[in-house]
Amino acid sequence: MKDVDVRDNGNGATPDTEGTSRREFLKVMGVAGAGAAAAACGPPDTGDRLIPYLIPPEDIVPGTNVTYAPVLTEAGPEPLGVHAIVRDGRVIKLEGNPDMPRGGALSALAHSTLQDVYDPDRVAGPRQLTTEGFAEATWDDAIAAAGAAVAGGSTVLLTPPAVGTAARFYQEWADAVGATWLPWEPLGLEALRTAHRIAFDLDEIPTYAIEESDHIVCFGADFLGTWLAPVELAARFSAGRFVDHGFQARFSFVGPRLSQSGLKADHWIPARAGGETMVALAAAHEVARQRADGRAARVEAMLAPFTPEAVADAAGVPAERIRELAERIVEAESPVALPPGIGTQGERATDAHLAVVLLNYVSGAIGRTVRFDGETERPRHVPYAAMAELTRRMAAGQVRTLVVAGSNPAYALPASLGFTDALANVPNVISLSPHLDETAGGAAWILPSHHELESWGDALVRRSFMALAQPVMQPVFDTRQREDILLQVAAAAGAGDAFEVADYRAYVENVWRDLHARIGDAAPSFEDWWHEALAGGGVGLSVQSQRTGAPALSAAAANYAFATPEIGDDLALVTYPTVQFYDGRGANRPWMQEFPDAVTKAVWNAWVEIHPDTAGPLGIETGDVVRVQTEAGAVTAPAYVYKGIRTDTVALPLGQGHTRYGRTAEGRGVNALDLLGGSPDERSGALAYSGSAVTITATGERGKLVIMQGSDYDLDREIAELMHAGDVAQAMEAHEIDLTQLVEAAYDSDPKSPYRWGMTIDLNACTGCGACVTACYAENNLPVVGEDLCAQGREMSWMQIMRYYEETEEGYHAVHFPTLCQQCGDAPCEPVCPVYAAYHTPEGLNGQVYNRCVGTRYCANNCPYKVRRFNWFTYDFPYPLNLQLNPDVTVRSKGVMEKCTFCVQRINRAKLDAKDEGRLVADGEIQTACMQSCPTQAIVFGNLKDPSSRVSRKAKNHRGYLMLDELNTRPAVTYLKGVTHAELPAGAHGDAHGADAHGETEPDTPGHGD
Ligand code: SF4
Repeated sequence: MKDVDVRDNGNGATPDTEGTSRREFLKVMGVAGAGAAAAACGPPDTGDRLIPYLIPPEDIVPGTNVTYAPVLTEAGPEPLGVHAIVRDGRVIKLEGNPDMPRGGALSALAHSTLQDVYDPDRVAGPRQLTTEGFAEATWDDAIAAAGAAVAGGSTVLLTPPAVGTAARFYQEWADAVGATWLPWEPLGLEALRTAHRIAFDLDEIPTYAIEESDHIVCFGADFLGTWLAPVELAARFSAGRFVDHGFQARFSFVGPRLSQSGLKADHWIPARAGGETMVALAAAHEVARQRADGRAARVEAMLAPFTPEAVADAAGVPAERIRELAERIVEAESPVALPPGIGTQGERATDAHLAVVLLNYVSGAIGRTVRFDGETERPRHVPYAAMAELTRRMAAGQVRTLVVAGSNPAYALPASLGFTDALANVPNVISLSPHLDETAGGAAWILPSHHELESWGDALVRRSFMALAQPVMQPVFDTRQREDILLQVAAAAGAGDAFEVADYRAYVENVWRDLHARIGDAAPSFEDWWHEALAGGGVGLSVQSQRTGAPALSAAAANYAFATPEIGDDLALVTYPTVQFYDGRGANRPWMQEFPDAVTKAVWNAWVEIHPDTAGPLGIETGDVVRVQTEAGAVTAPAYVYKGIRTDTVALPLGQGHTRYGRTAEGRGVNALDLLGGSPDERSGALAYSGSAVTITATGERGKLVIMQGSDYDLDREIAELMHAGDVAQAMEAHEIDLTQLVEAAYDSDPKSPYRWGMTIDLNACTGCGACVTACYAENNLPVVGEDLCAQGREMSWMQIMRYYEETEEGYHAVHFPTLCQQCGDAPCEPVCPVYAAYHTPEGLNGQVYNRCVGTRYCANNCPYKVRRFNWFTYDFPYPLNLQLNPDVTVRSKGVMEKCTFCVQRINRAKLDAKDEGRLVADGEIQTACMQSCPTQAIVFGNLKDPSSRVSRKAKNHRGYLMLDELNTRPAVTYLKGVTHAELPAGAHGDAHGADAHGETEPDTPGHGD
């Protein structure tokens, strides 16, 4: 066996020499400790002194966690309040901040932002482009050069959109230096806003209260994965589907491809790409026809041409299915329709959004489940069309200086737009990117900025809550806060007088002083109030004028001309963001590359989804390389044969195919944007991500597509179980479980121990988002092994989300099934270990003594659940990624078996605290990392010996069952069955057959998706 440096597998870089690492390590550890301690009460130390812990900083106890509460605004589609856990001056873990409105959970992408902080590929200091490439430079030179460029006029500042002080700052900066500020979001909401402007004259994003709905109809938005606010919406969704209250909302999905969200649907209405508009209009027409109020009569007249029969061909959906959908909406007491997302955003994006608005209007959802109450605050941004115009101006030589801060347009705009060529026509390109990405690659100077976790800031996350961001540690590299760089550049350009502050921290604090004065908080002084806000993550604002009820439909909406899509014989292209990479920002994070995609379970690559009926005649199987061609360009990628897509559609994920950015991301997969023609929606200026005509050709080659799930079905072993919603009430009445059998059996736990740790996992709630998996990586120091070892089945993830299909009368239903060590009461792994490394703890856990393990792997062979992971190599955590490691958890070396132990380090800490206080651990006191992150609260952990604990009560649920119960292993994990409104085959468990070896599935296709 050899040691493996995971860089070989694309895991990033490492320092040049050990000596350098150690020196850098001491610098970060020592100085950061002092800085982080100061962070909550003032700016961090500037980093030029080492403070020994002989005289420790007042608020740092070595070996103890310090928690900060910043907001992350660039960790995905929604701002997320987090608790940043800092140990000895370095942030080691992020957790959701439960004190924030609707806070407490996190997404996988937000967790992985930690790997951006410690990314070895970050630009370590200022760089200047020379004839030999980028060379190190001083900050003084870089600021002077940027200042001179900006002083020359004709400057454009490009940033991500901002709500809060940053928005004001960027505008003031632009005014001060005579620049134009363009806040831009690649996966923006311009079409949604435009539709509401047309319909109600409201430039707002509404709140979708789907937890109050009894029928959720989604027209394509991947609201559980990447659209608008997936962490919040997943929580709302699971609340609406919490069947133990006796009722579960029905969920219908309309669109050409089943996304992560679509996989949770009870009913799939597979409209052709662009056909969702027609389905929504015809459904609105039908609903209006059946309702007898004034609102309905007006809409019925407006939509008279859009009957189900008239639109059926254009929609690609039989009229009776549209009528059935409309009837279900009419029957529902509180329906809600969700709009299209990126994956269904075509050239008539505003039409599609407006059609959904009309459906919500006529069904009574506006004002009830769709509320314009300002609680979903989102920053304004310029549309894609403005970026197209900027590109034109750059190409025409009308932009002299482009300052790019926090955006990567050279990657995130379609290649056909020609942004990269236009960039070469701009005399001064100044990048403030922390990475040498595609845009920074075209810059003359790179002035690298801090990570969000190293920066000050704030964000109005809702109208009623202003959140604060603060540095939680000293910077890892020689970088500066983005806004501080801009302040210094303004000063160098002669515009420094416009700002009366020394740095951005003071700027933010001044804004908060004004806020404090305005809201007249009861706190005695600004300082106390400010410290309280820093500690809690922000302040609540009392909001006077929240709109209630439904706004009136405008005349513009009444006279809107909807276009009927043309029907051709071509295949239609769909491109969509994924939870791992989003707009490409997650691509250099090893955790995200190795996290299996929620739909395909593929890792480290991009793929082309093709329906089996389309792939079959072309001789294409999963893993075959296909060429995808549009008028704008072509890419080649491995195929993934997927029955959750229409036969006339092919789909590619966004976010891969970087040419620059970092060694983990570069050269992985293809950039689906290369296929887009770059034509915007006329009304909103949004980019069309779907709908282009496309051809596919088999190249005759085999590619590498590593899929981390062997079979799509549980092969009738009753692993993933599903029940019909109509059977729930009866099952609740009939069910009674005696937990005694579970907890008192001789081998489960020591009868004298007060604890038997256990877990429940609700398959009905789980959306497959993977936040739990990523949290486990962060908490337990799991290594990333790279694509090649994943292909050999040597992944190290302690938790996996399997995606099993269960057959229904309509087709199939996907069940996301989190698997982890079941902590069996009678564990097959324990008696076969020759050295007692696998042993049973008095509290019922299957412990694993790493130091004792000699690597026979008998335990893994004997485990029926296949959840043990063997270290074939000693995996490297290249500096500075190693600074993220959790000191409470051993880093394992080669030859050692490992697996989940319910975060035993957290259990032990809670037990020690309880012992100090002379009590038992209270219910809810311990949260495993996976449970803590789960947006849907699918996972509950606790003490099974306490009959009143949440986990005990959940384990008795009528939907509860044990995996492979017949083996008598007495698992401590109880699964609760998924529930669907789709009819299940009579007397059938619902499994299909036809799966074969790892990565080679041959799904049965029961007429779904045609
Ligand atoms: S159990 Fe895991 S995958 Fe499922 S919803 Fe919770 S965090 Fe997401």
